[in-house]
Amino acid sequence: MSRRISRREFCGAGVAMTALAFPLPAFAQAAARVVVIGGGFGGASCARTLKAIEPKLQVTLVEPNKTFTACPFSNTVIAGLRSIEAQQFGYDKIAAGGVTVVAQAATAIDARARTVGLADGTSLTYDRLVLSPGIDLRFDALQGYDEAAAAKMPHAWKAGEQTLLLRNQLEAMDDGGLVVIAVPANPFRCPPGPYERACLIAHYLKTKKPRSKLLILDAKETFSKQRLFQNAWKELYPGMIEWVSLSQGGKVNAVNPATNTLITDFGDHTAHVANVIPPQRAGRIATIAGATDNTGWCAIDPVTFESKSAPNIHVIGDACLAGAMPKSAFSANSQAKTCARAIATLLSGGSPAAPKLINTCYSLAAPDYGISVAGVYQPKNGLLADVEGAGGVSPADASREFRAREADYAQSWFSTVTAEVFG
Ligand code: FAD
Repeated sequence: MSRRISRREFCGAGVAMTALAFPLPAFAQAAARVVVIGGGFGGASCARTLKAIEPKLQVTLVEPNKTFTACPFSNTVIAGLRSIEAQQFGYDKIAAGGVTVVAQAATAIDARARTVGLADGTSLTYDRLVLSPGIDLRFDALQGYDEAAAAKMPHAWKAGEQTLLLRNQLEAMDDGGLVVIAVPANPFRCPPGPYERACLIAHYLKTKKPRSKLLILDAKETFSKQRLFQNAWKELYPGMIEWVSLSQGGKVNAVNPATNTLITDFGDHTAHVANVIPPQRAGRIATIAGATDNTGWCAIDPVTFESKSAPNIHVIGDACLAGAMPKSAFSANSQAKTCARAIATLLSGGSPAAPKLINTCYSLAAPDYGISVAGVYQPKNGLLADVEGAGGVSPADASREFRAREADYAQSWFSTVTAEVFG
């Protein structure tokens, strides 16, 4: 007696065939559905790459915002060097390329049934799901710092209104004011970002409010590109920036938004402008999917980016624990392409090869003064590890011409990556 087999049984049969090393027929691959949640640097790039690799795949990108506001270069908006519009990108080109763009938030995931529930009550089914939801700010981590407090003491760690709020507060501050930046412990989005921000705010203060001071309260002993940043502070902003490490009392435990006060074990600091960057975790949908562990981030297989706890769900970008790879847009974009290739290979019954991924993070210490850190990564002992001898940071003793060239490279990288992902 014959009966029709369901799609799920068909996919299950595909897995069994894979185990026997028989390739799946091409039509099985053609029918596959991949849903990508999050239209930022990771998700938008992954959706586009999947469609480019295998045009017959049904690729759906789920993102509630019609316009994406990019964080890289948002520190230049805070410093008054660039408009927020230069940070904003739409999804029209991605849709024109054959990706179905759904302007909804994903609110539920059933990993067994392979469905994604959306805010409007509809749902999508998938063969493979990719999560790239970025970060959530941990509003439970610093006493007194909740969403209402963020309207007074902005984090500006998700670009958009918060970026403009911090900009407006700096503009409204009198000359001679104190700006305080509170920086969390690792891991967090964009490890060099707070120190680039300190530089660019100092650049604004030096040119417009030169009697002002900037204090960085840090929950760490060391930070990314530390020597290069500290040299730049001395060279460009002497006497203006003070950095307080963890052991010197830099860890902020609580805040009082009514008085703009940041509270540490070593004393209180009352700011004219307080930029509080709280600890973070993977975007909430990753927890709903069962992909986060007790760190709040998502452990992944470093070859396929498949979640270690949620089968058929891949996690890329800031939300994943990528070993030595920092949480950056460059990393998210590298991971997106690797993950897309791995998914296409898995769907056609193959085994993805071990990848090599790269990251470069540029930072501006001034509009014409760039520094960078680069790395190459490969799977090792279940994580992504540094390829020894590859990568490094800008030379400590470089000329100002060299620094100006790196500032140009930073601009070029931003134009290139945003054109590739959204253009
Ligand atoms: P995102 O780009 O944040 O995208 C996540 C997307 O998911 C968002 O669009 C969100 O709306 C969507 N989403 C979330 N939840 C859901 C849901 N439930 N349903 C549907 N969609 C959802 N990186 C660099 O490489 N270079 C830099 O110079 C640099 N500078 C930075 C400066 C600052 C000040 C900051 C804060 C960050 C900087 N970064 C930089 C880091 C970079 O912005 C992030 O690492 C990058 O955006 C991560 O990409 P992502 O795809 O993981 O997350």
